[in-house]
Amino acid sequence: MAPIRLAIVGLGKIARDQHLGAIEATDGIELVAVASRHARLDGVACFHEIGDLLDSDVEIDAVSLCTPPQGRFSQAKAALDAGKHVMLEKPPGATLSEVYALEALARRKGLTLFSTWHSRAAAAVEPARALLAKRKIRSVAVEWKEDVRHWHPGQAWIWEPGGLGVFDPGINALSIVTRILPEEFHLTRSELTFPANRAAPIAASLVFETDGGVPVSAEFDWRQTGPQTWDIRVETDEGSVVLTHGGSRLFVNGESVIVEEDKEYRNLYRDFVALVMKGAIDTDFSPLVHVADAFMLGRRIQTAAFED
Ligand code: NAP
Repeated sequence: MAPIRLAIVGLGKIARDQHLGAIEATDGIELVAVASRHARLDGVACFHEIGDLLDSDVEIDAVSLCTPPQGRFSQAKAALDAGKHVMLEKPPGATLSEVYALEALARRKGLTLFSTWHSRAAAAVEPARALLAKRKIRSVAVEWKEDVRHWHPGQAWIWEPGGLGVFDPGINALSIVTRILPEEFHLTRSELTFPANRAAPIAASLVFETDGGVPVSAEFDWRQTGPQTWDIRVETDEGSVVLTHGGSRLFVNGESVIVEEDKEYRNLYRDFVALVMKGAIDTDFSPLVHVADAFMLGRRIQTAAFED
């Protein structure tokens, strides 16, 4: 079968850091175009916006949207309306209603919609899920603390409504927890810390409970300098199961079991090719549901203004 002809929309940090290399390394897909207002890429057709691309003679089968979540709905809708398969960066959109509308549209059109969660594609996630299916879980504690100035320099959109603030990384943790826990969980308490001059939180403290009454806590903070923390600690009746480094390392009862180099985005493009081949959809929006709940139930605390 001919490779999927793909266009990237939004040639920013993640497109350059991860998508370009992962597409290159994946069989069955090739990059033929880019749509980005301020960036060009040698060797492929370049357009200002997705509309110009879709109106052009350049033939594509799919688009990968690497733009910020605000505004992604209209790009995804335009692509689906034009008969193109769509891969969405995380978070899949700025609201729940828009992502469910996209899912319905993709189904009506018989097109692939892949709502990606790159952290779920990390090496320790599926082994942790298999292990936890066999153990009785006592508690879950998430600590996701990083330095926003290092990871998101100059990204204004991330502080705007819909940009999610600290939930931009925090949703990665939730995408892992929703995958590895054998039962559903729901939010019972949320405290969100907003800088006085920003529309999105810089820290969040969350408490959840599983259907079986197991406590799940999550601490997200964007003010951590020095070593960064992306850990999920699960206590079970047979000892601890700990994922560190964003899900790429697994420790079971204190023993290191998995340490793997990052292949998250290669795994995502491999999965996208398989979905398109099968004509399937993969849209689990549960991490975004938990983030929406955190805003809905959140007590707002104001802190000092944040300057870049
Ligand atoms: P970014 O560096 O700001 O890049 C996004 C690109 O989208 C921009 O370069 C811009 O290119 C285009 N764009 C279109 N409309 C825009 C708008 N209204 N405001 C700003 N840019 C707009 O952001 P990113 O870090 O790549 O993040 C993009 C998505 O990937 C987000 O959903 C994020 O959560 C996700 N992600 C990021 C990372 C990371 O480490 N940065 C990791 C995983 C996932 P033009 O100006 O050329 O159009």
